[in-house]
Amino acid sequence: MQTLVNIAYLLAAVLFILGLKKLSSPKTARAGNLLAMIGMFLAVVVTLLDRQIVDFTYILIGVVVGSAIGTVSAMKVQMTAMPQMVALFNGFGGAASALVAFSEYEFSRPTSNQMEFSVILNIILSVLIGMVTFTGSFIAFAKLQRIMRGPPMVFAMQKPANALIFLAVIGLGTAMAWDPANNDFLLAILLLAGVLGVLAVIPIGGADMPVVISLLNSYSGLAASATGFVLHNNMLIISGALVGASGIILSRIMCKAMNRSLANVLFAAVGTDGGETAATGGAAETRRATEYTVEDAAMVLENAQSVIIVPGYGLAVAQAQHVLHEMEALLMKRGVNVRYAIHPVAGRMPGHMNVLLAEANVSYDLLFEMDAINDDFQNTDVALVIGANDVINPAARLKKESPLYGMPILNVDKAKSVMIVKRSLAAGFAGEDNDLFFDPKTMMVFGDAKKIVMELAHALKAA
Ligand code: NDP
Repeated sequence: MQTLVNIAYLLAAVLFILGLKKLSSPKTARAGNLLAMIGMFLAVVVTLLDRQIVDFTYILIGVVVGSAIGTVSAMKVQMTAMPQMVALFNGFGGAASALVAFSEYEFSRPTSNQMEFSVILNIILSVLIGMVTFTGSFIAFAKLQRIMRGPPMVFAMQKPANALIFLAVIGLGTAMAWDPANNDFLLAILLLAGVLGVLAVIPIGGADMPVVISLLNSYSGLAASATGFVLHNNMLIISGALVGASGIILSRIMCKAMNRSLANVLFAAVGTDGGETAATGGAAETRRATEYTVEDAAMVLENAQSVIIVPGYGLAVAQAQHVLHEMEALLMKRGVNVRYAIHPVAGRMPGHMNVLLAEANVSYDLLFEMDAINDDFQNTDVALVIGANDVINPAARLKKESPLYGMPILNVDKAKSVMIVKRSLAAGFAGEDNDLFFDPKTMMVFGDAKKIVMELAHALKAA
């Protein structure tokens, strides 16, 4: 029986890995998701059959309630609220690992100080990482949901306070290894870890939360893996390690694409609360941007031979992806060569633009990653920017003092002409002025992205 279980676990692990691999391209992402789901289903069923379960009542209640909550929330969630949802999932994952490890300890707690050190260590790791993930993820959720508003909460001695709590956890862990029969130590670790999660996340700017969530996702995997060691469950060890590793890799990719270190994300409080940023130039601004009406903009587009669309965060806010697809189809019908350029950190979560455009059924063949299309801007008639700002800001190349300096950007400024749809001259996430708005070849079309693109599509239809 145990061999069969292990074979099933191995199969599930292979499915997870294949699923992860397929997630790296929009074309195969759905299939990847399906493979990973089948793997998880197999793992859950085999685990339920393997263990000597005395009573299925609570398990069934859990399955029904959990599935109902999961289904309803997945169906209702807005695309822009996806990071919050992932934060909640991570938080519950961390809490589950911590609670399982805690209860395992309670059940097997010795009456004397005879408990293997490796078991104690894994219990402590599981409770510590799980609780940090739980409370940290809920703070991340509250910030993204704007339940917690305002600038990042920074106070004097914050880092020493965190370090002190961490040292206290190590001290309590040592005491627990000394006297495993006393459960006060683990209870204190559980509470302190919860406080640590809160203190670690409150000083981080709301708009940096996606990176934090990816990091917490990794933590939830590590906590699950530690719980796997406590329960001697290979599947939990493997799947936890996969989540832990992929979360770290994703955090690194996001940081690299923003040209920031993880330390800068965690401690620099950039991008305060996710989008309310100062207007470019402010009162002292003397330059004039060239404003185009929708009719004039439509005329420029219909006379172009090639257009590269650059979607950004504003597209997601306006939910303009469906009308954008409609407009793209109208242009293609007129023989315009239309493609989309996707910056790796456009929007507020990894793959944000890919997911949005897939939702609107934009063909994957039209989507190009930055490296694949950046050299083509110079031969393109119109770079049409919809609600993007930082990812096209030339300050990233030119201004050493800019927070964007060094971040690779889309070469929109190299196109023959640039059309930017946004509501104002306001700065983007990094709060940095964008000189491209004032470039003589730039046409600004002011307004909500959905409204403007709808009007553009209307004008193209009528033409
Ligand atoms: P930005 O946040 O830089 O700019 C978005 C622009 O959209 C704003 O300037 C805003 O201007 C405009 N906008 C907002 N709402 C609307 C609307 N309804 N209609 C039209 N325009 C709108 O977005 P980018 O996508 O260019 O860059 C993403 C930024 O987020 C980068 O700095 C990146 O580092 C950061 N980031 C990305 C993460 C990721 O994983 N993708 C994670 C964490 C951070 P206006 O108000 O004038 O309309």
